[in-house]
Amino acid sequence: MSDTIFTKIINREIPADIVYEDDLALAFKDINPQAPFHVLIIPKQAIATVNDITQEQRELVGHLYWVASEIARQNGYASEGYRLVMNCNEFGGQTVYHIHVHMLAGKPLGWPPYQERIKHNPVEA
Ligand code: AMP
Repeated sequence: MSDTIFTKIINREIPADIVYEDDLALAFKDINPQAPFHVLIIPKQAIATVNDITQEQRELVGHLYWVASEIARQNGYASEGYRLVMNCNEFGGQTVYHIHVHMLAGKPLGWPPYQERIKHNPVEA
């Protein structure tokens, strides 16, 4: 798998506003925030998409969610709540092919979080 911009952040080749780091994971502020608090939680091991997660990596991916809960506690968002999102491939809206959990916090979030793309509406297809 070719390196993404997230590998460069892990290797400190480009800057990021890092909020959490351990042996397995790194979390940093999203450069284009969609909520008052928007961080990306990534594994240090590069995995391109959710489809590429192996059985051996299940614990690592679970760890990303524990990291999210820890960041929520450390930044005061645990009680009021937040949203965790992983986008997969084109229709999921994935643009960086190194899996990441989006953590969105700091305001009430709407649901559903998207507008249907009419041309892909199965009812009309
Ligand atoms: P996704 O579209 O789910 O793949 O999410 C990729 C996210 O990475 C987007 O929300 C971007 O704003 C964010 N992003 C891209 N480059 C950087 C960067 N250098 N530092 C922080 N966030 C970034």
